[in-house]
Amino acid sequence: MRQSHFFCKTLKTNPKEGDAISHKLLLRGNFISQLASGVYSFLPLGLRAHRNIEKIIREEIEKIGGQEVLLPSLQPKEIWLKTKRWDEMDPPLFRVKDRHSKEFALGPTHEEVITGLVKLAIQSYKDLPVALYQIQTKFRNEMRFYGGLMRAREFIMKDLYSFHADKDDLEKFFNKAIGAYEAIFNRCGLKAIKSEASGGIFTKENTYEFQILSEGGEDTIFYCENGDFAQNREIAKVTAGIKCPKCSGTIKEGKSIEVGNIFRFGTVYSEKMKVQFTDASGKKQLVYFGSYGIGLTRLVGTLVELFHDDRGIVWPKVAAPYQAHLIDLRSNLQKGDSAERFALYEKLQKAGIEVLYDDRADISAGEKFADADLIGIPIRLVVSARVDQGKVEVKKRNEQESKIMAVEEAINLIN
Ligand SMILES: [Zn+2]
Repeated sequence: MRQSHFFCKTLKTNPKEGDAISHKLLLRGNFISQLASGVYSFLPLGLRAHRNIEKIIREEIEKIGGQEVLLPSLQPKEIWLKTKRWDEMDPPLFRVKDRHSKEFALGPTHEEVITGLVKLAIQSYKDLPVALYQIQTKFRNEMRFYGGLMRAREFIMKDLYSFHADKDDLEKFFNKAIGAYEAIFNRCGLKAIKSEASGGIFTKENTYEFQILSEGGEDTIFYCENGDFAQNREIAKVTAGIKCPKCSGTIKEGKSIEVGNIFRFGTVYSEKMKVQFTDASGKKQLVYFGSYGIGLTRLVGTLVELFHDDRGIVWPKVAAPYQAHLIDLRSNLQKGDSAERFALYEKLQKAGIEVLYDDRADISAGEKFADADLIGIPIRLVVSARVDQGKVEVKKRNEQESKIMAVEEAINLIN
């Protein structure tokens, strides 16, 4: 992408809005734009990062057998009445009426919709197990909004639901889902702590949240320094400084960001929505059900909370909106459309590299470098009158020193 034609234009100073560092950097780098409090547009840079994370999630969820669907946001009141959640959801549902005064919720989650869908499809034990997931927009009627993407009113979530003939099979899949979540967060460069949390109104069983330690987090967890135990403060039976209940390690306290959660609902939803199957002996049985979420939009914000410095974002390679940022400082070539000018840009593209090309004329080297640091693409390539033909100055975003190397060598480094 040529930056001279690029829709995203960085801001010179931090925006007034923004109560979290990720919020400020994402607004300033023009990754997102605020439409209303807690409601954001994803711009080209932000969407590319988002799509990269979506890809990781799809790959890992499909590995454990998840099949992708896309369910509607408009959900009729009747299905919420069946589970008695029309009035009990917290935060309360966003409600809308159609022109015939029929009421709908804008879905904050899809247990009701998916259970209804599976009820129509499941007859025999041979139809189970089944795992369906989607990457889709959710609406939450929050009391307050925080940190831009960290707590928004409209956001994208990955939600996975699994249906089983018995408790053991649910348990097996539940453990596979834990493995998939660990793989997803590891691939994003994050160390997620699996923390026990309250199951909410529908299950007495402990659920797990996946928490990322961060000063910018809204949650507090107590966790073992050896990584074998953690609880959300809301249910914690431990405090900082005591011995871990599972090993000889010490319990620590930390602020954290919840990026995912997993629930074993058992047969609660099947009872309420009468979802049954016929077992091998011909008897009707209730279906066992699990629900697994990842706040994808929040995950983008979390990466920025964790990976930044005083100059801007430092994207991990897997999430970066582009693989390389090519900065052109050849003042004699910057204007016009000569073949010589675009040769390196085209060579990189031909090598399969996703490159943002700063071809802007009349912008100082200092401003270009400042923008590159703010946007945070992992590798910066500089081409200038000082660098010999066929070579390029290479600097990693997370390192101080730059190196002059042959273009081919730079291509190998990026790929
Ligand atoms: Zn421990």
